[in-house]
Amino acid sequence: ESGYFIDAIEIHVDGYVLKPINLEKLETKLNAIKEQINIKTELVAQQKLTHEITQLQDNILFVADKNRKITFSNQKFLEVFSVNSVDDFNAKNLQISDFFVQNSDFFYPLENEDWIESIKNIQDETKKVVSILDEHGEPQSFLVSIKPIKDTALTIIMLTEVTSLTLEKRAFEHKAYTDELANIHNRAYFEIEIDKEIARSKRENTPLSMIILDIDKFKDINDNYGHLMGDEILKELAKIIKQNRRESDTFARWGGDEFVVILPNTTLKDSKKVAEYLRVMVEKHISKDGLRITCSFGVAQFSEKGTKESLLNRADDALYIAKENGRNRVES
Ligand code: GH3
Ligand code: MG
Repeated sequence: ESGYFIDAIEIHVDGYVLKPINLEKLETKLNAIKEQINIKTELVAQQKLTHEITQLQDNILFVADKNRKITFSNQKFLEVFSVNSVDDFNAKNLQISDFFVQNSDFFYPLENEDWIESIKNIQDETKKVVSILDEHGEPQSFLVSIKPIKDTALTIIMLTEVTSLTLEKRAFEHKAYTDELANIHNRAYFEIEIDKEIARSKRENTPLSMIILDIDKFKDINDNYGHLMGDEILKELAKIIKQNRRESDTFARWGGDEFVVILPNTTLKDSKKVAEYLRVMVEKHISKDGLRITCSFGVAQFSEKGTKESLLNRADDALYIAKENGRNRVES
């Protein structure tokens, strides 16, 4: 009936048949509506299932829209970010990236950088790790997976906790890059740093220098006082150089009784001054067993047209000259 029809539209009826009633049409309509109800019921059941699955996850799971507002999260998310609900999180005007610890071992965005986009663009999967403080203030590491949902402006983000793996990786790296005897960086670390610094020097057009130093007549110490005493001397020398070099300089054991220092942003002239200062510090030092040693130093500056090898060779040649010229001296 037409009067009833207008009211029915206002209360959002799902369907209608006009009088006079054709039973066949009515049945088809009823079936269609039944189908719609089934679909709705199914949808609610699916949503419940999805919800349960996300809650089972021990990972942080959430969905962000194109404005990076959170539209969905699981329970773990609420726990880690100490909020009651997603609405609570959004109402506080919080950003996930505000929680990232700014540590160079982990990813963190610069101001105004879209962190989701930036992480997506990182090629090395192992670099997609962020650090977040837990409720006890302890840093936890999370591997970030980002999955845009097709045909929508939504993105699913999952943070998998990898704290123990990060700690293990760090311990491995420490072992791989440390000289156990002298407790300073080793040659493997030097190789990585020198490549980095050469690249930087070229990019920024800044000077770069290095120093090689070698203990004078170290064999005599071993021969006269034994190998263990030799080891002690090596440790003490490492300590002296470590304490007297600049923070920005990389110091490593090259091998045997040879050590290297990388001096970024430093000219040959200034590096020679640094080497001379170190030479005097070593010469002045009396070991706890009352021994004295001296070192010879070779200094070289990286040349734009040169290579890492040519830099090392020139520093090594300068060291050789220092030995030739009577030891306990700096040459370049
Ligand atoms: P030079 O002034 O020409 O350098 O004389 P040198 O006796 O120091 O000669 P060289 O540098 O060739 O010898 C290095 C010596 O360092 C030889 C080796 O027995 C000793 N050495 C290398 N590594 C270690 C170590 O880990 N512990 C000890 N105690 N000695 C080491
Ligand atoms: Mg020597």
